[in-house]
This record gives sequence, C-alpha cells and structure tokens, in this order.
Amino acid sequence: MKIVSVEAVPVTLNFREPVSDSWGVYAASRHGIVIVRGESGEYGAGEIALAWFGGAHTLCQDVNRHWSDKLVGLDIGDMTRIVQTLDYLCSFSKRHLLAKAGVEMAVWDLLGKTLGVPVYQLLGGKQRDRIALTGGMPMDAVERMTETAVKRVKEGYTELKLKVGLDEAKDLAAVRAVRNAIPDSVRMRVDANMAWKDAKRAKTVIDEMTAYGVDIVEQPLPDTQLDELAWLRSRTDAMILIDEGVWDVHDAKRHLEREAADMLHVYISEAGGIGGAKRIFELAALYGKDCTIGSMPEGRIGAAASAHVAAAMGNLSHRPSDIRGFTAYAEDVVSEELDIAEGSLIVPDRAGLGVTIDWDKLRAMRA
Ligand SMILES: [Mg+2]
Repeated sequence: MKIVSVEAVPVTLNFREPVSDSWGVYAASRHGIVIVRGESGEYGAGEIALAWFGGAHTLCQDVNRHWSDKLVGLDIGDMTRIVQTLDYLCSFSKRHLLAKAGVEMAVWDLLGKTLGVPVYQLLGGKQRDRIALTGGMPMDAVERMTETAVKRVKEGYTELKLKVGLDEAKDLAAVRAVRNAIPDSVRMRVDANMAWKDAKRAKTVIDEMTAYGVDIVEQPLPDTQLDELAWLRSRTDAMILIDEGVWDVHDAKRHLEREAADMLHVYISEAGGIGGAKRIFELAALYGKDCTIGSMPEGRIGAAASAHVAAAMGNLSHRPSDIRGFTAYAEDVVSEELDIAEGSLIVPDRAGLGVTIDWDKLRAMRA
C-alpha cells in the first residue's frame, strides 16, 4: 500500500512539574506528531521527540516542506527503500535522526495496523510482556530525594536511578541517605549526564558510591572521552552505561570497539527509529553486550515504539530501562494509557504501536 501523505504536527507537551538534570530545568517539551496516511485511509502515528535546543518544531517544518514529497508514493511494505530515502534526507545533521525516527515509527505503526499485528511481531516476536523500569530520582535536596526513593520502592521499583553530577559532596550524601532509607535488595544507579570532566576524580567518586551499592554509572564523562571511559570501566567496580555518547549504530560501534561501554542506553528517537534501535541491539550482541532503552522523554507514541523494541530484542538487559518519561507529561495526544504496574511497563498488544490519536487533543495541543 502506497503512502499518500506525511504530515508532522508541532505540539507542546507540558510537564506535570518542571523537570531537571545537570543541564537545566524544563517546563515543557516541543515535539512533533507525524501522521503517515496510506491509500486505505488508515494512518500510522509517530513522534519527533526533542527536549532540548528549542525542541522539534523546526524538524516538523523540514518534514512538511522537504521530506513529505519524497515519501509519498513509496510502499509501506518497502521499509528498506523508505529508510534509505530517510537516510538521504537526514544526512546533513544528527538532529534529523529524530525526525527520521518520527516518520519511520509512523510507517511501522501503519504497517502493523494494516497487517493487523503488533509491531513487536514484525520485529521477530515478543520475548517478554513487561519491561522493567528504573525508579527515577530527579536532582533535588537530599531529604526530598530520599522521600522520593521510599515512594518509588513502595510503587514497586526494584532499581533507583539518581541524577548526579553538579555537587560531589551532595551527590555522595544523597547516595548514602537513599541507601539507608531503602531495602538492601533495591539496586541503585547514578546518571551524571557527562557532568564529570576528569576521569581520576570520577573514579574516586564512583569508588565511594559503589561502597553504597551503586553498580551502574550512566555517562560519567563527556561523550568524546572514549579512552577515559574505557580506563574508568577497567578500574572501577561499576558498570559503565553509555547514554549521550550513543545516538546511532555508528556511535555504538565506536564505543564497543574502544571498550568504552559495559552497556548501551538506546533511544528510539536518537537511533533514527525502530530499525535503527534494532541495529544497535544487534551490533551490541556481537560484542556480548546488552542494552537498555532510554527516554528523551518521548510521549506515549514514542514510548509505545520503545516498548515494542524492548519486547522483541533478545539482548535487552535484565537491568531496567527508562521508558517512563511519558508519565511526566500532563497530557498526551493519544487516547490510550500506557500501563506501568509494579515498576514495569506493560507492552501494548494492539495492532501497530497500539496507540490511536485523539484528534481533539491533537488540535488542542498543536503549537
Ligand atoms: Mg542518561
């Protein structure tokens, strides 16, 4: 079935409460909702998710003005051709991978709906029904982080992820306080979002944190410091999870070749979509490595796409992923809820990505 139209609608997704990390504080996220229609009249939905640099609205313009014409007329079953066309269109900047992801996941959604099967079926089948998630802990005063930790454990999360990186003494105090407030069985990881700049200093901090049971450190150093990351990996007891350093499969290859990663944190959006994310998983498998899935955070469409990939990949880590960012938004453009139970995301079983657009909401949230 041929594609008859591709439209990217700019939307504003407001956060329930402002979100913070070591880069700043955000009140809302500007995304694009991609609608790909086929000859049958059926549509597929995708999401262009970008929390930083002013958001995804200029990417929507690019899709509408320059991409749409090149995609109309292609067959939705001809995924290789569609991806080649998108690769050509996004060859000028890495940011365009996010637009590619939005269009590509909409095509998968349309293909799945047309065939009447969930997308995970098209990716090789469902390996698991639920995706374990980390309990998120935004940077905050130590007492508030501790309260959040206790709450997350009560909600059923078995691993907490603390954002760190701006203040060493405070970070260590937070790790200590949280450790003392939660059961020993609950695991802890930290995410420095590249905030530490010196490998030796980072090693000292990590060594102190591992004494409190932190055993995964996410992106401790800037994404350019591959040799330093490899050094840190060989000299600390924590596993190094690479996040900012890996967008697409080329980044993944660099990190794996240089032995700079124990695990890769894959984003559907940064990878250029479902197929791009799958390629990273498959490459990591060749190196005997597992991956987890991150969150831009996408809204429910991107989160559903992430869930389908997570469900289907053989080397999804048994350690939790982060597909919970969608819960931070006050409202979304889709009708269905995505369910989280006991700290795990339930994989949607409906055809395609398993979400449908609420057109009134889309109109209301249009920017
Ligand atoms: Mg991260």
